[in-house]
Amino acid sequence: MALANPAVQPAAAVAPFGSAVGLSCRECGQTYDLGPSYACLECFGPLEVSYDFGGVSREAIEAGPANIWRYRDLLPVPADVADKPNLAPGWTRLVRARNLGKELGLRSLHVKDDSGNPTHSFKDRVVAIALEAARTFGYTTLSCSSTGNLAGAVTAAAARAGLRACVFIPADLEQAKIVMASVYGGDLVGIEGSYDEVNRFCSELIGDPLGEGWGFVNVNLRTYYAEGSKTLAYEIAEQLGWRLPDQIVIPVASGSQLTKIDKGFRELIKLGLVEEKPYRIFAAQAAGCAPVSSAYKAGHEVVQPVRPDTIAKSLAIGNPADGPYVLDIVRRTGGAVEDVTDAEVVDAMRLLARTEGIFAETAGGVTVGVLRKLTEAGVLDPDAETVVLNTGDGLKTLDAVAEFARPTAVIRPSVDAFRAAFDDRG
Ligand SMILES: *Cc1c(COP(=O)(O)O)cnc(C)c1O
Ligand SMILES: [Zn+2]
Repeated sequence: MALANPAVQPAAAVAPFGSAVGLSCRECGQTYDLGPSYACLECFGPLEVSYDFGGVSREAIEAGPANIWRYRDLLPVPADVADKPNLAPGWTRLVRARNLGKELGLRSLHVKDDSGNPTHSFKDRVVAIALEAARTFGYTTLSCSSTGNLAGAVTAAAARAGLRACVFIPADLEQAKIVMASVYGGDLVGIEGSYDEVNRFCSELIGDPLGEGWGFVNVNLRTYYAEGSKTLAYEIAEQLGWRLPDQIVIPVASGSQLTKIDKGFRELIKLGLVEEKPYRIFAAQAAGCAPVSSAYKAGHEVVQPVRPDTIAKSLAIGNPADGPYVLDIVRRTGGAVEDVTDAEVVDAMRLLARTEGIFAETAGGVTVGVLRKLTEAGVLDPDAETVVLNTGDGLKTLDAVAEFARPTAVIRPSVDAFRAAFDDRG
């Protein structure tokens, strides 16, 4: 208590994890100090960051920067995080989707459009938190196993932060995601196998001397990484005028994003930043990789792994780590899990583009497709305030719609030719 003058405190006095106070096991509750741990030593369960929030006001948040750091007091990051080199993601637009709502028969619909992030997917949010943890733990290489978007977010963040990057992807990803993941420098390694095999490979590498000093954002830094998804919940609530939506449709790959959006909503209620009210969480998967949807429909509590086969490659995780937690949350909030075929994904991508001018990647086709399916089935309440997530940019998955998105005509540069071409069409 002797050092009262903050001006004479060394920089190291900034708490590296802000208001976070420890880690706790999501299965058995065992607690741990903040550190580079990601699995419980007692039961191997996943660890979660716990906090001791001081007073957090709407005004303080609103005075913050137009990116995720406006919520720094609710994240495991130092107070001066915004001053360090990072991609400053977030504060993406929440679009009032009147046309799509009208088409589907939903009275109040919003699209949270995360394609506007620096590397054009929601992954910049989670990587920004993991990057801070990597710095604190002294890791010099930033790494990940990725279904595509994460690799680009990691290599870009590493470039900005001056860290080395080495990322791993299934070798058969979309061309645009491969380019995005390699253009920022560092090493991009294609693995001949599924995402689940890439992920297993990374876990092995962590135990090998080769992986020493490496921060795998979604493996050994996963506890911190996952917290970044809470910012989606905070932003949606703030952009709705400090109010929770009644129902929200969220895509599920590993399920991490969905569980943390729920955590974010609960924190806002607990902090008194929004009024307490019930909300329903709906999970969306592609039929070609629907292990959580299958478990939900079968009434199971465990998730049976599958071998993915879908154009929604960013969601193609056959063995989702957070699958059981997704089931818990969906059941607790009165939501549902649904899946759509690849054809329905493509239809939904075109529907969103044509009604709202938003070009989503296949993952956005999955959420909008599920939104449509659940509305038509009468599962979603047409009068309730509804939010659907678009988590990535359509430019990354051009092949999905290329067949349907061509020039209406190709003609010589003359009005006659134009008239002829259009007369032809009646
Ligand atoms: C990674 C990703 C998600 C969600 O991933 P989770 O593993 O469930 O957190 C959603 N959409 C896109 C486009 C992604 O890249
Ligand atoms: Zn445990």
